[in-house]
Amino acid sequence: MKNKYSGKCLCGAVTYEADGQPIIVAQCHCDECRRLSGTGHTVGAMFPSKVVTLKGTLRKFEYVSGKSTEVLKAFCAQCGSPIYGTNSRTPNHLTLTLGSMDDAKELDIQVVIFERDKQHWDQLGLDVMSFATQPDWKPED
Ligand SMILES: [Zn+2]
Ligand SMILES: [Zn+2]
Repeated sequence: MKNKYSGKCLCGAVTYEADGQPIIVAQCHCDECRRLSGTGHTVGAMFPSKVVTLKGTLRKFEYVSGKSTEVLKAFCAQCGSPIYGTNSRTPNHLTLTLGSMDDAKELDIQVVIFERDKQHWDQLGLDVMSFATQPDWKPED
């Protein structure tokens, strides 16, 4: 197993390293995660805050969750990529977005939360066509 996870935002201005293994890897379908991600869910790996080193300029957005806890989401100030979140329910911990990691091949989702809020379009049917890369298709003018 790896004992260090690194990651970066889309533009590369924000980078991070986390030592050791995540405490848990969770997929969340809550309303806030849906809007934050622009898609059906987020996937995050929770680490003790003290093992994570972040570099670069982050912008932060705070709100009160449906469970009355204080939530903070941190994004790259330049490109807007979501990097991590914290929740006052679990102080001294932060959750890094799995999509920002350079190599998360060894990690698997261990739990799905807010499953009741999962959108019907956020799961694939067997009849969905898939392409290895971008297909040549374009909309007709
Ligand atoms: Zn960036
Ligand atoms: Zn959520």
